[in-house]
Amino acid sequence: MAEALGVWIVGARGAVSTCAISGARAVARGLAAATGLVTGLSDLEPLGLVGLGQLVFGGHELRSGITLLQAAEELRDGPGLLSAALVGALKEDYAEIDRDIRPATALGCGETIRRLAQGSKLEDALTAKLIVEQLKADITDFKRRHELRRVVVVNLASTEPYHETLPACYQSLKAFRKALDNGAEGLTAGVLYAYGALESGCACVNFTPSLGADVPALLELAVERGLPHCGKDGKTGETLVKTVLAPMFAARNLKVLSWEGYNMLGNRDGAILDDPANNAAKTRGKDKALREILGDTPELHTRVRIDYCPSLDDWKTAWDFVHFQGFLGTKMIMQFIWQGCDSMLAAPLVLDLVRLTDYAWRCGETGVLKHTACFFKNPMGAETHDFWRQWEALKQYVQAHAACAPQRQKHTKARRA
Ligand code: NAD
Repeated sequence: MAEALGVWIVGARGAVSTCAISGARAVARGLAAATGLVTGLSDLEPLGLVGLGQLVFGGHELRSGITLLQAAEELRDGPGLLSAALVGALKEDYAEIDRDIRPATALGCGETIRRLAQGSKLEDALTAKLIVEQLKADITDFKRRHELRRVVVVNLASTEPYHETLPACYQSLKAFRKALDNGAEGLTAGVLYAYGALESGCACVNFTPSLGADVPALLELAVERGLPHCGKDGKTGETLVKTVLAPMFAARNLKVLSWEGYNMLGNRDGAILDDPANNAAKTRGKDKALREILGDTPELHTRVRIDYCPSLDDWKTAWDFVHFQGFLGTKMIMQFIWQGCDSMLAAPLVLDLVRLTDYAWRCGETGVLKHTACFFKNPMGAETHDFWRQWEALKQYVQAHAACAPQRQKHTKARRA
């Protein structure tokens, strides 16, 4: 029987998580097609990735007053993302996974996120060190009960507020460990989740804009523990389109003067991003991609706004206005409107990243997985934001691995023996 892979989701009853879990089970049982999954493309077939039916889910969640089934029912009855037939078919799956969802921490997450917590959460009674111990114990227990050798921890929790100054202890692993022992100030949940995951011997995926493992101390830890990880902030909608289109202007020597992006969304993610501190974590540096692709000239004006519009629910709407100059200084305009279903764009990418991270892990890769850059708005260790160059890098990775597949199989067999 194929070996199971644990997927431990932080923010396990959120919209993206619920769609990812539902999608994995639906595709594995032949109840839905693999549309939207990058790993469903024939380009990635040579890797022989873990099957969706081999994924075992668990996680941490701040909202204890809701079950996974209720989260799925909300997505069925509200924005209509999950069909009644699918939610009905997965009832027992939701109940079984719920038993593996544990109370979470909202340490350093600010008031807007803390308000989500109903019932018990961790940090009211605990220090950061004890929180980490509890997070690790939850993952270890999950591993033991399901006899899992490998677990990928995925951060799908709400976007944490942006902090201009980071705690000094993030600068090295030694300082971080010392700070934990001495009762550190200014630590945030996302970093603790990543630390707990890596210390538990798990690979990590950070789909959120929150820091996660993207601090020197944790980059060091991942290498020390020989674990792969990737992030940050899934590239699902407006930024995806932007980083696909911007190279066209550059390749035609058209000078972009302004690129203004206006986003509206109405789901819980949108409500959290309505808080300016949380919004800053998402929008800060969002023009980095355009400046890298189009050239960082002072004339280029870019801005990204995200507003909360409750009636839209999960149907995010983005309007982009591109003012550009062509031959003999002629000014022209391009506009597009993107109306994407936020969670359904994100959910398959989460499953893709789990599969690719697991694959890299099995191949003995450690540290930041640069070849996953095309999945992220702010890819760690990235050389470019240009979607096409990122996509090419992923294809080259696949080709290089396909070429040495027979040798790898030999090694794996030898290791097992
Ligand atoms: P959501 O609000 O539906 O889900 C987040 C879940 O995390 C909620 O259930 C919440 O209770 C829980 N949570 C919040 N803080 C937590 C904590 N500290 N520990 C454990 N659980 C916690 O949001 P979503 O739409 O599912 O988005 C999830 C994340 O993915 C957000 O950070 C979002 O910015 C990011 N993201 C989403 C997309 C997309 O297209 N949907 C794209 C890129 C990034």
